[in-house]
Amino acid sequence: MRILAIGECMAEMAPTDAPITYQMGFAGDTFNTAWYLVQLSPETPVSYFTAVGDDAISSRMLGVMRESGVDTQQVRIVPNRSVGLYLITLDNGERSFTYWRGQSAARLLAQDKQALAHAMKQSDLIYFSGITLAILDPEGRDALLEAARSARRAGKRIAFDPNLRPHLWASPAEMTENIMQAAAVCDIALPSFEDEARWFSDMNPAATLQRYANAGADTIIVKNGAEAVLYRTRDAEGSVNVPPLASVVDTTAAGDSFNAGILAGVATGRPLPDSIARACKLAGHAVQGKGALVPLDQSLLDNCQ
Ligand code: ADP
Repeated sequence: MRILAIGECMAEMAPTDAPITYQMGFAGDTFNTAWYLVQLSPETPVSYFTAVGDDAISSRMLGVMRESGVDTQQVRIVPNRSVGLYLITLDNGERSFTYWRGQSAARLLAQDKQALAHAMKQSDLIYFSGITLAILDPEGRDALLEAARSARRAGKRIAFDPNLRPHLWASPAEMTENIMQAAAVCDIALPSFEDEARWFSDMNPAATLQRYANAGADTIIVKNGAEAVLYRTRDAEGSVNVPPLASVVDTTAAGDSFNAGILAGVATGRPLPDSIARACKLAGHAVQGKGALVPLDQSLLDNCQ
């Protein structure tokens, strides 16, 4: 199976020990998932679909993506635009994020409908998130959802993480409405209970699961931090306990790395409970390191077999 992740990758400026000196990296929810996928399943081709500019930082980003093993052949280059940027500020160990992404090329990723359709045609499993939708204008959202709908009709599998980010939307109502439209297009829904409870008033993870099932998803996996992961497929349902951790360093990309574990399992035909257990190990590793992209060591990979 070939996997396509669609979304925005940004330049990241992370603080170092030296005052006012930052270390540059590249990250973004859907890209983080692609990055973990390549490490977990090097035999699975993973491609990223986005738009970048034609400047030096955009080429640098593409270079880093390629070096990490993610295929960038489908990435669109938009002249006179650049990539989005965010800066991390540490205050007593708490990370806060400042973004400059209003004009990023990625906002135009769905403008070329043919390119989008072509990228999906080359793939078997297509993944995007609520953040992918949030950065697009209404026309771009329609184009993305329509392309996903056609791909699904053509037998591709569509995976979606709602990744609710109210500050990226004009209003909570716009966010919840668009998220449920995407839910109606996907086969595999990957919501996180805490966010869903806040914005959809779900009383418990079972209510979140049922809402995505009602929308039309046939596989639903509800993440819930350190609590058990709830799942349902067409013919099975259950929960998988999350292994307890002695310490949590940074929960950035917990959900993104978890999703990589699930998508790798779908690509290789693993039973879902096994994939969830593997996803929990991967996410457990990600939250014990700093930043979004925490390299996997061989013992973890062996442990994930
Ligand atoms: P998101 O990052 O999307 O909000 P969650 O916080 O629900 O997602 O976490 C995703 C996964 O990361 C969980 O299902 C679990 O496997 C792992 N995880 C997150 N927080 C913890 C924790 N405190 N202890 C152990 N595992 C965790």
